[in-house]
Amino acid sequence: MVTTRAIGIDLGGTNLRGALVELGEGEATILRQERRAVGEDRSPETVARALAVLVRELSPGERLPVGVGIAAMLRGTTGVVANAPNLGWRDVPFARLAEAELGQPVWLDNDVNVIVWGEQRFGAARGKADVLCVFGGTGVGAGAVCDGRLYRGAGNASLELGHVKVVENGRACGCGARGCVEAYAGGRHLVEQVREQPSAVLLELVQGRLEALHAGHVDEAARRGDERARGIIDEAARWLGLTLANAVTLFNPGCLLLGGTVWVGCPRLREGTLGHFRRLVNVPALDGLNIADAVLGDDAGVLGAADLGRRELGR
Ligand SMILES: [Zn+2]
Repeated sequence: MVTTRAIGIDLGGTNLRGALVELGEGEATILRQERRAVGEDRSPETVARALAVLVRELSPGERLPVGVGIAAMLRGTTGVVANAPNLGWRDVPFARLAEAELGQPVWLDNDVNVIVWGEQRFGAARGKADVLCVFGGTGVGAGAVCDGRLYRGAGNASLELGHVKVVENGRACGCGARGCVEAYAGGRHLVEQVREQPSAVLLELVQGRLEALHAGHVDEAARRGDERARGIIDEAARWLGLTLANAVTLFNPGCLLLGGTVWVGCPRLREGTLGHFRRLVNVPALDGLNIADAVLGDDAGVLGAADLGRRELGR
């Protein structure tokens, strides 16, 4: 089997993780990895420098393709970050800054895109040409591979599934709009809805430590019969199920891949969502549809970034 090596970087709001990856056809192995905290100084120049140091540590004296996944909205595929709320960046030509530090080209992509690509190339959706991935964590993110290629849309802003509207003038969302599915089913919003007036069941679950409250607690409270938590989880399931049904009706993927902390940690939400999904989806789209759980976890990002870097930089 022909293999090649590349560097994959996962640049989040708090962590910078890098891996030296051996890439084969449908297989990838992490040979080495390093993780750093993004420090207090989050200026693009400082982060670019830290990234260059990390790459040199992972592959001393070598010049391997470098792919970076960043939690940000990008300007097309220009390597410019339009908005990275976690880092406080707006209109930052980050790929160029990283290239200047490293002395070689760097491929910059959206974090969800690289995760989707990782799962489609090496994970649960391996070998499927048409894949829709939906991740429920703090927010709701999604991406798609169509006919074996990452679907980007005209401006690399496609598949913003979390911001599909489900309620006109509904709950306020982090994007500034109202009624987005994320404002109901995103982990942050599930917690927000109960934090103001937590029930006795919830307080017991977190042992009085409200700061430790996460979406899994809300789901567990619902399962224990907490009426308010039940209402919140069931409403989230309804809107998420509707959104998934409409997305599958539109895309007709061969694989619907689901993952993320909320998806894994909230069994009631998950069951409810799939119930609504099956009830609402266009039936022919179920033909040959494989519904699968993401399997690569945190590794999907670095594996996908390394592989996209290798491909897009033409090696
Ligand atoms: Zn939104």
